[in-house]
Amino acid sequence: MDFSLTEEQRAFKSELEDFFREEMKNAPPCYQNTTLIEAMYHTDEGFAFHRYMQKRLAEKGWLTMAWPEKYGGRGASIAEQVIFNEVHSYYRAPGIDRFGVAMFAPTVMLFASEEQKARILPPIARGEVQYCQGWSEPNAGSDLASLSTTAVRDGDYYVVNGQKTWTTAGHRADHMFLLARTDPSKKRNAGLSVFNVDMGLPGIEVRPIRYMNGGHFYNEVFFTDVKIHKDELVGPEGDGWKLTRATMNFERSGAGAYAALLRSFEELLEYVKGTSRDGKPLAQDPVVRRKLAMIYTDLRAGWAHSYMIAWLQEQGKTAFTPAAASESKVFATELRQRMVNFATEIMGPYGQLEDSPWAPLGGSMVEGYQTVIGSTIYAGTNEIQRNIIAWAGLRLPRIK
Ligand SMILES: Cc1cc2nc3c(=O)[nH]c(=O)nc-3n(C[C@H](O)[C@H](O)[C@H](O)COP(=O)(O)OP(=O)(O)OC[C@H]3O[C@@H](n4cnc5c(N)ncnc54)[C@H](O)[C@@H]3O)c2cc1C
Repeated sequence: MDFSLTEEQRAFKSELEDFFREEMKNAPPCYQNTTLIEAMYHTDEGFAFHRYMQKRLAEKGWLTMAWPEKYGGRGASIAEQVIFNEVHSYYRAPGIDRFGVAMFAPTVMLFASEEQKARILPPIARGEVQYCQGWSEPNAGSDLASLSTTAVRDGDYYVVNGQKTWTTAGHRADHMFLLARTDPSKKRNAGLSVFNVDMGLPGIEVRPIRYMNGGHFYNEVFFTDVKIHKDELVGPEGDGWKLTRATMNFERSGAGAYAALLRSFEELLEYVKGTSRDGKPLAQDPVVRRKLAMIYTDLRAGWAHSYMIAWLQEQGKTAFTPAAASESKVFATELRQRMVNFATEIMGPYGQLEDSPWAPLGGSMVEGYQTVIGSTIYAGTNEIQRNIIAWAGLRLPRIK
C-alpha cells in the first residue's frame, strides 16, 4: 500500500485547503465553539451559512464529484473523495447534505424512473435542497424492519400515518426519504416502500427533540393522513427494503472522521502546552503526556485503517469493506469519546463551561463531550457494528 499523493492530488489538496481556509473566515461564531451538526442546524444563521456553502461547493463541482458523469458528477476516484473529505472535515466546514447527496441521490440513480431522476437529482446537485432521513421510529431502530408507519394506496395517492423519530435536520429539511409499510398485511421487511416526501405537505408535523445541551438538531415527525402522490414512490411498491439496504451501503472509509479528530487533538495539544496546574505546566505532567501519546497513537492507527479501506475500495475489493467500515465507525467514534473525556478531565471544573470567557477552547470540548454520545448510536449502533464485524469480518455464525 502506498498512501503518498500524486502531484495532481497534492495540487487538489492544496486548492481545497486554500478554499476552505478562506471561506471559513466568513463562518458565524457557532462554527468555532459548537459541534458541526449543531452549527449547521440549530440557528438560522448557522443554517444560512450551510446553504451558502452548499451552493459554493456545487459551483466548484465538489458537491457531487463522486456521482457518475451521466448525472452531472465527475466520477471522482476514491482517493480524490478521501482528500476532499479530509480537508472538508479538518476545516469543520458545512455544505454537505449527506442525506441528499450521499444517501438518497445514489439510491435514486439506481432505482428511480427516468422522470424521477430528472426531477429529483438536479436540485440536490445544485445544492438547493436539504433532505432528512425518515427511517427510525419509537419502536424501530436497530430492528428497522419492524417499523409501523403505513402508506396505504388510495387512487393517485398514498395516505401516510405514523411517526418517525430522531430525524436529524427534519426542521430544516425540504424533503424526506421515507420508509413506510405499503402492505400492512406483510410483516417485517416485506411490504415496505420508499417515498420522496415534500416536508411542506399538510398533515406533517415536526417537533423538536432538544439535545442535552438545549440544541435543536433532532426531531420527531408525525404523519396524519398525509397524501403523497404515487409519482413520489421510488422503485417498485414493496421493494423498499432492497432500496434501503442499498442506501445503507453507501458507506465511506471514514478518513474524514480522523481529520476532524486531528483538528481537535491539535487544539488540545495547544491547550496542554499553554496551561499550568498548581504551578506546573500540564505538558510536563507524565499522566497527561502518556494519555496524549496513547490518543495520538490510536488516531494514527485509525487513520491508517481508513486508508486501507479506501485502498480496498479502489481495488474493487468491496466484499471486504462492510466489516472494515464497521470497524472504522466503532474505532473513530469511541476514540473521539476517549479524547473529549480526557480533555474535559484535564480541564477540571473549567472544562464544564460552555458560554463563558473562562471556558477553555471556547467550550468546544464540553460540547463535543455531550454530542459524541449520539455518535455511537446513530448510523447503526456500535453494538450492531460489532455484530457485523463478527459475522461479515470474522465469519462467525450470524445470530438472527
Ligand atoms: C443522535 C442521533 C441521530 C439520529 N438521526 C437519525 C435520522 O436522521 N434518521 C433516522 O431515521 N434515524 C436516526 N437516528 C436513529 C438511529 O438510527 C437509532 O437510534 C439506532 O438505529 C438505534 O435504534 P434505537 O434507538 O431504537 O435503539 P434500539 O435498537 O432499541 O437499541 C437499544 C440498545 O440495544 C442494542 N441492541 C439492539 N439490537 C441489538 C442486537 N441485535 N445485538 C446487540 N445489541 C443490540 C443497541 O445497540 C442499543 O444499545 C438517530 C439517532 C441518534 C441517537
